[in-house]
Amino acid sequence: MITKEKVNIKPGKLFIDGKWVDSVSGKTFNTINPATEEVLTMVAEGDREDIDHAVKAARKAFEEGPWRKTDARDRGKILLKIMDLIEKNKEELAWLETLDNGKPISETTTADIPLVLDCLLYYAGWADKIHGETIPVRGEFLNYTIREPVGVVGQIIPWNFPLLMAVWKIAPAIACGNTMVLKPAEQTPLSALRLGEFSQEAGLPDGVLNIVTGYGPTAGAALAEHMDVDKIAFTGEYITGRLIMQAASKNLKRVSLELGGKSPNIVFADSDIDSAVNGAMTGIFFNQGEVCCAGSRLFLEKSIHDEFVDKLSDKASSLRVGNPEDAGTQMGAQISKEQFDKILGYIDSGKQEGAKLVTGGERCGNKGYFIKPTVFDEVNNNMKIAREEIFGPVVSAITFDDVDDMVRKSNFSIYGLAAAVWTKDIKKAHKLARELKAGTIWINTYNTFDAASPFGGFKQSGFGRELGIHTLELYTQVKSVWINLGN
Ligand code: ADP
Repeated sequence: MITKEKVNIKPGKLFIDGKWVDSVSGKTFNTINPATEEVLTMVAEGDREDIDHAVKAARKAFEEGPWRKTDARDRGKILLKIMDLIEKNKEELAWLETLDNGKPISETTTADIPLVLDCLLYYAGWADKIHGETIPVRGEFLNYTIREPVGVVGQIIPWNFPLLMAVWKIAPAIACGNTMVLKPAEQTPLSALRLGEFSQEAGLPDGVLNIVTGYGPTAGAALAEHMDVDKIAFTGEYITGRLIMQAASKNLKRVSLELGGKSPNIVFADSDIDSAVNGAMTGIFFNQGEVCCAGSRLFLEKSIHDEFVDKLSDKASSLRVGNPEDAGTQMGAQISKEQFDKILGYIDSGKQEGAKLVTGGERCGNKGYFIKPTVFDEVNNNMKIAREEIFGPVVSAITFDDVDDMVRKSNFSIYGLAAAVWTKDIKKAHKLARELKAGTIWINTYNTFDAASPFGGFKQSGFGRELGIHTLELYTQVKSVWINLGN
């Protein structure tokens, strides 16, 4: 493992048309390490004009550049080269991610980076397998379809898995032959900029991938509104998702949204309790709870409730929270002061609404945005902590003894991103998989991901599926071609 000191943290510029440039305004902003509250470096602050330059570069690359003529298999090869470069530099990237985001180095090395590599490998394989059909129409005609790229794609990503979210978006877009403007989250711009360097080294033509760092309401909004962007892909809060849709309506650009969640994690008495406790831990404390599909509502069958809560609170209180740079750390810092305050605000609201605080409930240490793993018991599904997305290490336990009522409550949410069921009864598991309104259902597991399996939301958790074959639909459009074979 390379040491942190070897990580080259330099000031970040915008990546437009294959060049590294300052923002038009010359403005910059700082990116900080949330574990120390210290500035890591500064990054160019892109705004409307920079977005416009990036979109123009992407348009030119799409219409005129060598990209149009690049064979599909060669697009796949570029993805493989990017993958190789990330693999070669994986320790540096893991550090960059840990320093910029505050998540433990043990997680960036074992979760973020391997998932990034797998996603690139998966979509590299797709590049030359995206094809149309011949259709048996009436009459003397040959009718076939072509799957063409959508065009210039805007991609706005969050800060919880910075590099992974970038790759979830750029890998399928490249496989399908689009050009892109990527706007990383202002909290975590560094790994995306490194990705820009790798893309260039891997031979991606100038202008195919442009990266504009900047704030959401300025650079992000300009991208979502831009009249020459054909599609916008967004991951973030549902409130922002609404703004994106409104902005996208200006030129009716295609939209895909991956938004928040308040996912039910349901434990039956007939489950393997120790596995379920581990699943509940992963479900809510992985990545400091900064996971859109976090298992934040924990439904516990009455007969195992006491045993479960005891075991969960023991584990939660002994979780090693602290310096993300230590190999043994299990939970790092929340991303920002804003998130930190928001989470503590929810903890207060839980106490005020009468939930029972079992463990945690306060900050950890006095420097950096650390919060203790927090378990609330005796939560009512109508309380704010059971309704709203906290995006932090706070779980709300809700007891049930009537399955139908529990299912109703599980589904009583504006969100529908994920749900999990813990039981040894296969019939019950499959039945619930049908009844729960969510885009992903986990049975006897939690937070399991694979580049080949689709991910996305029901209800206000968004629409469009990322990963798997389904993303190819987001990044291509179908053309129907008719040929008269008659007279
Ligand atoms: P969070 O509050 O967790 O940071 P956001 O939804 O605000 O989640 O942020 C996710 C991404 O959306 C970030 O890249 C952010 O800069 C961007 N963003 C925020 N507001 C807007 C907006 N009004 N228009 C476009 N993008 C935005």
